[in-house]
Amino acid sequence: MSPPVVLIIGCGIAGPVLGNFFKRKGYHPIVFEKVPELGDAGASLMLMSNGLKVLNLVGLADTLKAESTPLQELWDASDTGEVLGQSDLPKTFGDRYSQPAVGVRRTTVNLKLKNMLLDIGVDVREGWELVDIQENEDSVTAFFDGGRSVTGSFLIGCDGIRAASRSILLRNQGIAQGAPVYTGLTQTAGISVTPEPLRQISAMRNWYGDGIHVISYPVGPNHTSWAITQRETQEKEETWRPYRPDEILEQRQQLSFLLQGWDPVIRQMVNSSERIIKFGLFDRAELKPEQWHSKRCVLVGDAAHPTSPHLGQGANQALEDCFHLSHSMPFLEPGSEQYDEKLQVMGSSLWKNIFRPFAGKRQPRTSLLVRGARSQGDRRVVSGTEACRQRDSGIRAAYKDSTVLSAKFDDLLREPFQTL
Ligand SMILES: Cc1cc2nc3c(=O)[nH]c(=O)nc-3n(C[C@H](O)[C@H](O)[C@H](O)COP(=O)(O)OP(=O)(O)OC[C@H]3O[C@@H](n4cnc5c(N)ncnc54)[C@H](O)[C@@H]3O)c2cc1C
Repeated sequence: MSPPVVLIIGCGIAGPVLGNFFKRKGYHPIVFEKVPELGDAGASLMLMSNGLKVLNLVGLADTLKAESTPLQELWDASDTGEVLGQSDLPKTFGDRYSQPAVGVRRTTVNLKLKNMLLDIGVDVREGWELVDIQENEDSVTAFFDGGRSVTGSFLIGCDGIRAASRSILLRNQGIAQGAPVYTGLTQTAGISVTPEPLRQISAMRNWYGDGIHVISYPVGPNHTSWAITQRETQEKEETWRPYRPDEILEQRQQLSFLLQGWDPVIRQMVNSSERIIKFGLFDRAELKPEQWHSKRCVLVGDAAHPTSPHLGQGANQALEDCFHLSHSMPFLEPGSEQYDEKLQVMGSSLWKNIFRPFAGKRQPRTSLLVRGARSQGDRRVVSGTEACRQRDSGIRAAYKDSTVLSAKFDDLLREPFQTL
């Protein structure tokens, strides 16, 4: 009997990792990606220990760490650079959680993930955009643009914040889904040669001003990724279009004006950035666990729990999802005694045995983080003297008690993720 075909929609973060896991567990995954050719994408990601542990299972943790410099320090300051708090806890992540945290360019991650799939012989189909799904008792057919369709045993929707898989699942449950929700915040981001004063220590740095927040972290031995968050009432398209070279000069001037009086190192970064991207930040209201799946389809990553980026956990949680979903599926070894028995799991009770427990486990944790990210974003850009004073004293207090800080990271990063 041929192995069950797993239709994986989306080749972002979760899709390729699931493709790897399912191939190694004896299934036949096919990864469909709407973009004609994956390549240049967004700015950067902070991969935390939890995400890196999962990436280690697909053999990518070491190569990603080699691209950058593991995080050593957290450093928060006022807009002028007056230190509010500092901690070298990230230095201990490697020992405490078996992997450090590391900032990487998003394009690097995406391409390494895609190539990892090609190396192990997984069928990756770029330029295939999911448009509909039809479910049967023990199979599912995915329909793509151009009238193409493929039938498999089950489908995993990893198609991100604007997931077609999610809209279709909800539509079939009688729920009309709107567009992602604009959080009221925009980010302007870039990658620059690391300014001299930031070269000593690999730190995640936050600067807090009135209505503006700036974050930076290294994404390589010589480069730093930065992002400026502001509240803007007019909704911004989540287009991810980098400014054209002729627009960059004007952007730099506007940002320099906006950041007058701020720590000069920020303006240095902005002015040396070769690429600047501006985008709106979106999330969505949480789904109930039973809405994460149907009988033959399940949502993973941003398709299930799209988040704004302020806790840096979206991709890391997508990776946790990948681990938990594939971990609960049986290994299939053709010719082995229990092969047929194990295939039964793929039958009509797949949703009861696998999808329902998966969603039940993952929904509470991810929903909490989505809500936490939203309020973290709001807190970062408060305006007015009193609101800023309260925020800054909260930050100072959070750094004072290192046991609380370390318990927070334990909760986030300690899960083992050791074997498939
Ligand atoms: C500015 C910003 C900064 C962030 N920083 C961090 C960070 O530091 N750390 C962190 O953990 N997370 C971060 N995140 C969140 C992170 O980017 C997402 O949570 C993560 O990418 C989700 O992975 P995914 O695989 O679910 O979806 P995605 O990575 O979005 O991948 C979805 C894929 O599906 C494809 N697709 C879409 N529709 C279809 C379709 N109909 N058919 C076929 N393919 C389709 C897309 O082209 C894409 O390739 C950040 C997000 C933003 C916006």
